[in-house]
Amino acid sequence: MASGAVLWFGEEMSAVPLRNNKAAASAVRSVTVLGATGSIGDSTMDLLRGARDRYRVEALTANSNVQALAGLAREFGARFAAIADPARLSELKDALAGTRIECGAGESAIIEAAARPADWVMAAVSGAAGLKPALAAVDRGATVALANKECLVCAGDFFMERAARAGACILPADSEHNALFQALSSGNREELERVIITASGGPFRTWAPADIEQATLEQALKHPNWSMGQKITIDSASMMNKGLEVIEASYLFALSPDEIDVLVHPQSIVHGMVEFSDRSVVAQLGTPDMRIPIAHCLGWPDRIVGPSVKLDLAKIGQLTFEAPDYGRFPGLRLAYEALRTGNGATTVFNAANEIAVAAFIAGKIRFGAIARLVEATIDDWLRSGNLAPLDSADEAISVDHNARNRAAALLPQIALKAT
Ligand code: NAD
Ligand code: MG
Repeated sequence: MASGAVLWFGEEMSAVPLRNNKAAASAVRSVTVLGATGSIGDSTMDLLRGARDRYRVEALTANSNVQALAGLAREFGARFAAIADPARLSELKDALAGTRIECGAGESAIIEAAARPADWVMAAVSGAAGLKPALAAVDRGATVALANKECLVCAGDFFMERAARAGACILPADSEHNALFQALSSGNREELERVIITASGGPFRTWAPADIEQATLEQALKHPNWSMGQKITIDSASMMNKGLEVIEASYLFALSPDEIDVLVHPQSIVHGMVEFSDRSVVAQLGTPDMRIPIAHCLGWPDRIVGPSVKLDLAKIGQLTFEAPDYGRFPGLRLAYEALRTGNGATTVFNAANEIAVAAFIAGKIRFGAIARLVEATIDDWLRSGNLAPLDSADEAISVDHNARNRAAALLPQIALKAT
């Protein structure tokens, strides 16, 4: 097994390194950022900007923003830049004229970027579109900082098994999972009682059901604490994000649904906690700034100096907690159900949610219909008797594809249905 892939709580098939695995970090690490122009990409580039002597950029990718991608590639002297939109290759070539930066376009170019030999890869594409590129990095045994939770939820156990087989090392970049990653090393698997991931509750935490149902895009995009990309911000408002994160925690750390709890914590200071058998609860705290968990992944196995503001608890004064409301936020219930069902149900959950969020952004459905479309798609999929374990990326992608079609087919009737 490569140095990155260590035993997780004594289980052999695991790719999340936890204990006693301080591999020596080389002086200059090569890094690739998939989704460099997004919110996580921006935070990652900011950290790299502050440590130019320690990191060399191998490849950067983006979906369609050629100018932003070319600007970053020039600034960091990247060796390769890839744009997902195949129609923009000549624009990218023009934007990189006079440099020695190689470039490519289309999905294959994004995969090529991930496959190039960088020590560390940030997987920060949004949605299941990030699955194939993340797997390309995993397959060559890279250290992968995983922000792209949808690709893990889509591919399930299979993703982690493939990472373990390749000797890849998966570092959780999502703030809650990074918190668990840091806290879990305080004990053993046998000593673990449960993990708790916190949720801000989003902008509709205190809203009445009828108001949540009618919430506008503008209201859904006003997250109280975090500044993030559009899809995850809407997922936070519906608490689908927390549902995705429960599933993410289960796959990342090989935990059963009963071992994962969610706690609403409006201040977003405590990100995750681990309870052990002696009733010790170990938590990770920090200001709501994604550069903190990303810095942890970037420095790992060491810690680097981060640019985020220091946590000032005296100034914050109060940290409050409340139980999640599964009635007003059915997405969380649906996520637990999908996780318990297994066999591709989480793939369907994610695919239907991606279709629902896109439909909400396009003004085709009400906010409240997001969860209804996800539930209807899962029910439809279960009725058709398609329960089978996912054994390959192709199977995950095929279930994802079929579920998107089913969700799109169900969309008109969900859009019409009054609550
Ligand atoms: P974003 O929308 O701001 O950025 C997404 C990036 O992926 C952009 O660079 C975009 O160009 C690229 N991209 C989008 N679609 C693509 C496609 N089809 N092919 C190739 N590239 C594509 O999103 P974000 O907020 O940075 O989130 C990225 C991922 O990280 C998501 O999975 C999200 O759930 C997760 N995450 C984000 C945050 C956060 O604070 N933003 C926190 C935790 C986890
Ligand atoms: Mg999170």
